[in-house]
Amino acid sequence: MSTNDHIDGLLDNNQRWATETEERSPGFFSRLLKQQTPQYLWIGCADSRVPANELVGLLPGELFVHRNVANVVVHSDLNCLSVMQFAVDQLKVQHIIIVGHSNCGGVRAALQDLRVGLVDNWLRHVQDVRNHHQDWLDQLPEEQRVNALCELNVLEQARNACQTTVVQDAWSRGQSVAVHGWVYGLHNGLLKDLSVTAAGPDDVGPAYRRALEALQRRYEAAMGR
Ligand SMILES: [Zn+2]
Repeated sequence: MSTNDHIDGLLDNNQRWATETEERSPGFFSRLLKQQTPQYLWIGCADSRVPANELVGLLPGELFVHRNVANVVVHSDLNCLSVMQFAVDQLKVQHIIIVGHSNCGGVRAALQDLRVGLVDNWLRHVQDVRNHHQDWLDQLPEEQRVNALCELNVLEQARNACQTTVVQDAWSRGQSVAVHGWVYGLHNGLLKDLSVTAAGPDDVGPAYRRALEALQRRYEAAMGR
């Protein structure tokens, strides 16, 4: 089979999907054409094993999505900030969910100082998270460290999202928007809430500290301490 046959297969799949979707819900696409009214913004990893809509059972039009390597939210990333601003200011999403996943290749590269290429510069942000928690991470068995850093990274990126001008301005206008941090288990297909939810500026520090303590206790308990 040539490469073209493979790529044509995708277009065939798409035709079937469009037909089936329209049959299941007549008028589906013409309704979506008029507007999108998603309640949620998903900021997740680009990893192909973490398909946002599928994991949470949402249809086209129901989830606004931004993905990058290792689900990073940084204040200098105009791409992510633009998505956040459109989602919050125009679409009025109620929830921003930062979603990491276990065994993230980006997080592993950051943890182990692996040189991959251009992405090393991007992963400096995750290395900052690692460095911040280095002493604690060093106590863990080596095989636990990647997943622990995946979760720590979610907490840090959720806190970053809270501190963006987009979210801060929404909160100061009295707009209802909550930031959440979840982690997806590649091994079992399940999402876990890391309970770092913040719905206003006063929530951010306490939610982060509680979630960090809970995360650390969970890993320490698994070590039998
Ligand atoms: Zn990843």
